[in-house]
Amino acid sequence: MDEFDTLGAGLARSGISRRSFLKFCTAMASLMALPPSAAYAMADALKRAQRQSVIWLSFQECTGCVESLTRSFDPTLEQMIFEMISLDYQHTLQAASGTAAESAREQTMKSSWGKYVLIVDGSIPTRDGGVYSTVAGISNHDMLVETAKGAAAIVAVGTCSAYGGIPHANPNPTGAVSVSDIIKDKPIMNVPGCPPIPSVIAGVLAYFVTYGKLPELDHLNRPKVFFADTIHDRCYRRPFYDQGKFAKTFDDEGARNGWCLYELGCKGPTTYNACATIKWNGGVSFPIESGHGCLGCSEPNFWDKGSFYKPLPMPLATNNRVIAAAAIGGIAAGAAAAVISRKHQADISKEN
Ligand code: SF4
Ligand code: SF4
Repeated sequence: MDEFDTLGAGLARSGISRRSFLKFCTAMASLMALPPSAAYAMADALKRAQRQSVIWLSFQECTGCVESLTRSFDPTLEQMIFEMISLDYQHTLQAASGTAAESAREQTMKSSWGKYVLIVDGSIPTRDGGVYSTVAGISNHDMLVETAKGAAAIVAVGTCSAYGGIPHANPNPTGAVSVSDIIKDKPIMNVPGCPPIPSVIAGVLAYFVTYGKLPELDHLNRPKVFFADTIHDRCYRRPFYDQGKFAKTFDDEGARNGWCLYELGCKGPTTYNACATIKWNGGVSFPIESGHGCLGCSEPNFWDKGSFYKPLPMPLATNNRVIAAAAIGGIAAGAAAAVISRKHQADISKEN
């Protein structure tokens, strides 16, 4: 497929039927909570669209975000790479190396100036002139600033590029920061998670290709369609939480009965992500369904918030009834933690 080809022509050439294509669009529309009619509009727009040029920069990261994307089920990675986007530069996946790889980035910037999407995973080290992570002799900071200049939009994939992530955790030896700490003059969407859910990455890219803009974002620049609710809001163990039935250890009777993991440190009440609805591995399961509490990996500073196995702190409220109820079952503390988180979210939204 050449750069002037449309996605529709490419699909026809690859033998992908209209039915399969519509199925894909319906799945994407439903993932993004768009009305059913949007699937047809999306199919129409995508068919006429040229492949979106994408430059993907990987900085201080563990490659987990790319690993997550390569486990994408709907669409598959091949569909995304060859049919929906043109992944013109990606450190881990590209065949080219050395000078040829760098010239691919420069060539894409030149030919698609002002149009390409820049995806970034990993945080950016700023201490000591940014020497702690370089690519082709260029510091991450300088490569980001240079490549961001010609981007139509930037997608910070993963908690490290969205908030600094684990490299940013105390004592942050490399002075790691997020993309939005450095770039101030471009539309930036954060898709946090350690790693993010692959279908969410695919969904936001499909949205950009279809509508030519980023979806609606919340106060932390996350796509609202995927980050509007907490894990706790949608958790299938919630009825047990509401009844005050909590597992006390990972192998007690409560755990075997699938009771709530709040007392084992679950951070679901204060974590905004779509794990409980979209799930992982093609919708097979998610951590809480596998018996482990949510770590809160899609929230800023999740690594510095104390033990993963310590229950969320008791609310500061001095309401004796709240504390008494919490002492009995832990339920009020969880409810209050969720309310505090919601209030905090609402306050920040008002400020913005
Ligand atoms: S505390 Fe965790 S396990 Fe319990 S209902 Fe909420 S999200 Fe689910
Ligand atoms: S359940 Fe929580 S810790 Fe696990 S992937 Fe989802 S947001 Fe991250």
